[in-house]
Amino acid sequence: MPVTAMNRFNSITYRITGLMFLSISVTVFLLIYLADAQMVELFQQYLVVQHMEMTQGGQASGSPTMTLVMGSLEKNFLESVHASLRWVGVGIMALGLAASYALARSITIPIRKLGQVAEQVAQGELGKTAPVETNDEVGHLADIFNRMSQSLAANATLRRQLLANIAHELRTPLAVIQGNLEGMVDGVIAPDKAQLRSLHDEAVRLNRLIKDLRDLSLAEVRQLVLEKRPTDMNQLVARTVLMLKPLADAKQIRIECALADCLPDVVVDPDRMNQVLYNILVNAIRYSPAQGAIRVYTARVMEQTDPWLKVSIADEGEGIAPEDLPYVFDHFYRGDKSRDRKSGGSGLGLAIVKQLVEIHGGRVTVESRVNEGSVFHIWLPLKAV
Ligand code: ADP
Repeated sequence: MPVTAMNRFNSITYRITGLMFLSISVTVFLLIYLADAQMVELFQQYLVVQHMEMTQGGQASGSPTMTLVMGSLEKNFLESVHASLRWVGVGIMALGLAASYALARSITIPIRKLGQVAEQVAQGELGKTAPVETNDEVGHLADIFNRMSQSLAANATLRRQLLANIAHELRTPLAVIQGNLEGMVDGVIAPDKAQLRSLHDEAVRLNRLIKDLRDLSLAEVRQLVLEKRPTDMNQLVARTVLMLKPLADAKQIRIECALADCLPDVVVDPDRMNQVLYNILVNAIRYSPAQGAIRVYTARVMEQTDPWLKVSIADEGEGIAPEDLPYVFDHFYRGDKSRDRKSGGSGLGLAIVKQLVEIHGGRVTVESRVNEGSVFHIWLPLKAV
């Protein structure tokens, strides 16, 4: 509800001010009442004692009445003390009212400013931030709000970029298919076997891209159904290496495996893990020079008292520039911008790897040096997650 639409007496300012003023008033009233009553009594006792000392030289003879000892002077004195006490009371209450109002405002003004910025964010102005003026709970709230607003803005930008990238990636193979089919319909391109095969390749690429995008989006929202079971990772690595042998052979690349003995089974979805190993190994082959070598090794490692299964894939390829390294797991990130989809992949391979490993409770890391090679490490938890 906008601040203006709020009943002003529902405002925290009025409620805090009212409550504080009420408690100050009650306290002041009670204090003044007690002080007044006690002061009258003590003053009377004092007068009586004085009177007795003056009339009988310090020897008491019965107690004199008030009318006897209280002259108009004394009455005036008492009246002026009463009046002073009342004025002091009024003064304290006025001060209390001002202090309560100032305190309430110091709390509500930052909240009101935060509310106005939140309203703007709700209207779609993502990224708007509120001033963090105090180092207290309200300042902390404003800081959290600002971070949330900025992350909303960053997510919106990423989503826009992602949509633009998807549209761009889908348009290219579709344009190729459309252009070729139009050429065939117009009789400009002969519908021979080679042409049809190239069209089929484009359709397959398109299909793969859409499947990758679907997997990626499902993994990102943790909706990908996993069929987890205890899996021998060494066996899975050996199978993936065998599957990719023809691709490596075509470039005369050696794939050496150094698989740890007595590796415990890890609970994973073997098909998804195969996809992870496949994507990293395909990259290793793609970015390795002909006759190069790729090493795959597995190990059981302890990290912060937890056991992990680590699979590492090291190549001696072109490596990744330090400025590219933080982005290699992003969607559609390609190190070499000039490389087209045919010579390279979709730019989704490592993004899928990251998501698939993360939904298994693991993580993937990379070390790389330009012209020396890259090592990708897949960490899978051996402790149940
Ligand atoms: P692509 O399908 O384009 O290979 P990936 O997501 O698999 O997309 O990889 C993203 C980028 O990371 C690649 O474009 C490439 O620049 C870089 N990259 C990935 N693996 C390697 C590697 N083994 N050696 C060098 N660069 C790599």
